[in-house]
Amino acid sequence: MGYSRTIPFAEAVAEIAPDLTVSDLRGDITLTRTPQGLYVQGKLMARVQGECSRCLDAALVELTGRLGEMYYYPANTAPADALTIPEDLNLDLAPEIRDDMLLSQPMHVLCRPECKGLCPTCGVNLNLEQCDCVDDDIDPRLAKLKDLLN
Ligand SMILES: [Zn+2]
Ligand SMILES: [Zn+2]
Repeated sequence: MGYSRTIPFAEAVAEIAPDLTVSDLRGDITLTRTPQGLYVQGKLMARVQGECSRCLDAALVELTGRLGEMYYYPANTAPADALTIPEDLNLDLAPEIRDDMLLSQPMHVLCRPECKGLCPTCGVNLNLEQCDCVDDDIDPRLAKLKDLLN
């Protein structure tokens, strides 16, 4: 009771779920015994390969998975919908970590904050080269007219 143990993680590559393989998994998780079971708490960080939403280049996405869950033991003492420790005592934290990591994914992935993106006219990657397209900053009133014509 009250016994706790911290497990450090440092994995170059880790498959958290069939749909989530990450690199550079790091952080730690602390398991604490309580009268109800085990309280699992911690934070893991990892990276996945993503795509920059501006230039479509490969971009590393930083994910964070936070845990703060009570795992009840024995399972039949658990309230409805609570997490439990299975009879074989193999505690699988991966589903919770997977869900939290996927939720931590940013809506707009960028290869770097100052990414210039692709030229909307010719499509060149403006981080790599400068194209000759003129910036057609069209008058907003004319843009409206153009919309009507379309
Ligand atoms: Zn980019
Ligand atoms: Zn261009």
